[in-house]
Amino acid sequence: MRILVTGGAGFIGSALVHRLIGDTTHEVLVLDKLTYAANLASLDPVADNPRFHFTRGDICDAAAVGQVFAGFSPDAVIHLAAESHVDRSIDAPEAFVRTNIVGTFELLRAARRHWRGLKGERADRFRFHHVSTDEVFGSLGADGLFSETSPYDPRSPYAASKAAADHLVSAWGRTYGLPVLIANASNNYGPRHFPEKLIPLTIANALAGRPLAVYGDGAQVRDWLHVEDHARALVLVLEGGAPGETYTIGARSERTNLAVVGAVCDLLDRLAARGDGRSHADRIAFVADRPGHDRRYGIDPAKIERELGWRPRETFESGLEKTVRWYLANRGWWQDSRVRVYGGERLGNLG
Ligand code: NAD
Repeated sequence: MRILVTGGAGFIGSALVHRLIGDTTHEVLVLDKLTYAANLASLDPVADNPRFHFTRGDICDAAAVGQVFAGFSPDAVIHLAAESHVDRSIDAPEAFVRTNIVGTFELLRAARRHWRGLKGERADRFRFHHVSTDEVFGSLGADGLFSETSPYDPRSPYAASKAAADHLVSAWGRTYGLPVLIANASNNYGPRHFPEKLIPLTIANALAGRPLAVYGDGAQVRDWLHVEDHARALVLVLEGGAPGETYTIGARSERTNLAVVGAVCDLLDRLAARGDGRSHADRIAFVADRPGHDRRYGIDPAKIERELGWRPRETFESGLEKTVRWYLANRGWWQDSRVRVYGGERLGNLG
């Protein structure tokens, strides 16, 4: 297959491109605007592969998107390009509406035009695969799990923009017959994650001797999924998912934010001990909660396990240790962006 991957220079996109080039014979074109969250170095491991191609461009730019479809003639689109940080969506929601909603619309419009021009088996096998989040379902109480039948109930501007994108994708499937797939995954972690999200931010701040912010009481629960497990799931959904279907993806690894920060500190105490003999956890600082902060996310992955045979390979403990080791061994990858783009200060606090 010839696969157009949008957002392939980001965290999940680059992990997915590594899998597509490493584990399959597919041809890959990455379309990415290279926003602050992108890092071209994340694609270094595949850069010299003849099946890998890269184009810089904005998914909101209809002419640029049209040229990419005409020039590459994809058999499938895996759409990950997005503004992805909830805190930034609170401070500046415009970019989220633009990229996540209007950008998805432009891709759907171009994909439909392209798909209608395909013949026979190529048309039958075409797929538009939207990579989405469990945040579209809102917040769980103490019990229950999100699944493919959960109602949409987004709370943050980020979640609302992703929900809107999901609805557009479903509508293009139902109204125009475009063969669409949607995957709603839980919180990812792993290497090459921009150091604004909880786990890499905690690592970077700890190594800088800065306070380790925990929002509110830290009892918010997230269901942690290693990015490599997510990338393998996305390939399975593309290759085996039924058009029109959605798949919720999670590794049954619910942890409170406070437990996650504590686990990062324990690993750093072992792998990068402080000079003064104290624990990194001594720097944990409880700060004002995020406005509208969802209390709990948890995923029931039974459908993707049953229908596509997916199983996560990492436990949270094995995946987190690998992640911390990666950030310690690859300081060059993230330290430059700490200086140039974002130094770890509080975002999305309204006050
Ligand atoms: P990321 O912020 O690391 O990467 C996003 C990428 O999209 C960047 O390379 C950026 O340059 C590119 N991009 C942004 N705006 C663009 C535009 N207008 N045109 C072209 N490219 C643009 O995000 P991520 O964490 O890798 O998330 C990827 C996708 O997966 C997103 O759609 C996100 O909603 C979804 N998702 C993320 C998580 C998570 O925990 N990170 C969980 C579930 C789903």
